[in-house]
Amino acid sequence: MADLLGVYGASGCGRGIMPLLRGREGDARLVFVDDALAGGMVNGLPVLDWQGFAASGAAVCLAVADPGTRRRLAERAAAAGVPLHGARHPTVVEMDDVRIAPGACLSPYVVLTSNISIGRAFHANVHSVVEHDCVIGDFVTFAPGVRCNGNVHVGDGAYLGAGATIRQGRPGAPLRIGAGAVVGMGAVVTRDVPPGATVVGSPARPIRRKP
Ligand code: UDP
Repeated sequence: MADLLGVYGASGCGRGIMPLLRGREGDARLVFVDDALAGGMVNGLPVLDWQGFAASGAAVCLAVADPGTRRRLAERAAAAGVPLHGARHPTVVEMDDVRIAPGACLSPYVVLTSNISIGRAFHANVHSVVEHDCVIGDFVTFAPGVRCNGNVHVGDGAYLGAGATIRQGRPGAPLRIGAGAVVGMGAVVTRDVPPGATVVGSPARPIRRKP
């Protein structure tokens, strides 16, 4: 029987990632995996729950936009011995020396220029750009249209909202977006963002939380 390849998450993100795999995975049998929607069909494909899938799943593509959830699902996959699988649209442009860890989902018109390192299960949604000398951590999400200029380091689990623009850093002095930070949509980030902070606006500033 053909290998079983799962797209974990059958909601908005998963329905955007499944078409990147359809018709491009040889004889592999494609299914959605979703713990809330299991038993049904989504866009013509069956939905299994994790237990049902993991027993015979050959590989899984993590298709949930939230970085923390993706990390948790990756741990679940590792514990079950199911490897991460990536997905990419044929319009993705990758230039020189781009190193990408397993599980990346690269949507249409993503551009990765040169000398870039990207961690596990990266999500780059449509029209996102990663410029030269960037270092992207594990489980990072770029929503549609993120423009990340050169010499930027993005920590594990950071989420960059739609249309965010990140100012370039300098060689040896990168602009840093800390682990777990959230950059609001349309934000223009001109300086480092501390780990766990949420920044919005132009220039982007932290949201002050009520005590
Ligand atoms: N989900 C799941 N198991 C988990 C966490 C999430 O099956 O442990 C599924 C959840 O049921 C939902 C999908 O992942 O269908 C996430 O969908 P959501 O609309 O929250 O996010 P998006 O698709 O935009 O990333």
